[in-house]
Amino acid sequence: MPPRMAPTSSSLPDAHGHFGRFGGMFVPETLMAPLQELATAYEQAKADPAFHAELDGLLADYAGRPTPLYFAERWTKTLGGARIYLKREDLLHTGAHKINNAIGQILLAKRLGKTRIIAETGAGQHGVATATVCARFGMECVVYMGQVDMDRQALNVARMRLMGAEVRSVTAGQATLKEAVNEAMRDWVASVEHTHYILGSALGSHPFPMIVRDFHRVIGIEARRQILEKEGRLPDLLIACVGGGSNAIGLFHPFLQDESVRMLGIEAGGDGIIPERHAARFQGGKLGVLQGTKTWLLANADGQIELTHSVSAGLDYAAVGPEHAYLQESGRVQYDYATDTEALAAFKQLAHTEGIIPALESAHALAGVIKIAPSMNPHQLIIANLSGRGDKDVEQASKYLLD
Ligand SMILES: *Cc1c(COP(=O)(O)O)cnc(C)c1O
Repeated sequence: MPPRMAPTSSSLPDAHGHFGRFGGMFVPETLMAPLQELATAYEQAKADPAFHAELDGLLADYAGRPTPLYFAERWTKTLGGARIYLKREDLLHTGAHKINNAIGQILLAKRLGKTRIIAETGAGQHGVATATVCARFGMECVVYMGQVDMDRQALNVARMRLMGAEVRSVTAGQATLKEAVNEAMRDWVASVEHTHYILGSALGSHPFPMIVRDFHRVIGIEARRQILEKEGRLPDLLIACVGGGSNAIGLFHPFLQDESVRMLGIEAGGDGIIPERHAARFQGGKLGVLQGTKTWLLANADGQIELTHSVSAGLDYAAVGPEHAYLQESGRVQYDYATDTEALAAFKQLAHTEGIIPALESAHALAGVIKIAPSMNPHQLIIANLSGRGDKDVEQASKYLLD
């Protein structure tokens, strides 16, 4: 089944941040000028070889790029179908793909002459990546985090504080990621003259979904070159987990024009597709606006944002990035979900067969591999994005996995 092509996806978004009917800039008036300024600074940086030289240098020597494309031989044998490759973003400094975007954005902040950085964080991974680059560049750093997440992810709170960041607890509402984003936006409105907001996923108002995507495209660019070196041809299928969608779009985007490459994004199915018990926006979500962008989100009949649930904090968010909404509608990328139980089984299986402990977020992508690889033939190739390492999740997972 050849996937339908998106009309030159590489030229999206348009000047106002639209991916088809999704995306845009739904922000308070006071943020329009700084967002335009950011978009302009980004266009200038993109055309500046000195910017790329500094970015590439940091990605190589500080973050640890390129990451390996690893052939999971024993897991491939276990599943008995397609050959499975893992893109090892888990091996990056701080343990996940998020550092790619944090490095890119702090370089933009420096160009803009900003001296203070704010960020939101759910599981704490983006907060850690942001605190890390702030320490590296000597910038003041404030990270907003829901109190519930601070309790669940105490180790990441300690890491951020150790690197000199101030972690501000958010107690409103569900006291998780959505409320932390609200607080970060409120801070930014008041501080935008000297503060840059390092948004952590391919979400929010234009130009963030584009900028975050572009800083993660390195994942797909490397994977493309590596699979051509190792196998002499393009993969048949790409799989990645989708929270806001940054690791997935980073892997997918450089392959969008390759018609033979299928792509599958995996959302968090939680306890199954029951209201308030999952975070799979493409399963019964509504079109709406949340935190700056128009996209699919989980809301009740009155338009109120619904509670979400996932075993993995990094996928536990009510809205999906607008470019994924576009790619889903155009049919170029397919989206499915994995439940908590399926993700935990994949978490355990990869640890047992390959000696690699994946992040619970990444384990959702691996659950997708477990479902689909056995039905493919041994000449076909899958690349799954291992977006992060699972050390942070071992304690939580062991509560579920005790046999
Ligand atoms: C944050 C996170 C995710 C989810 O975010 P995306 O923007 O969808 O990539 C996935 N995996 C890991 C390891 C994360 O830390």
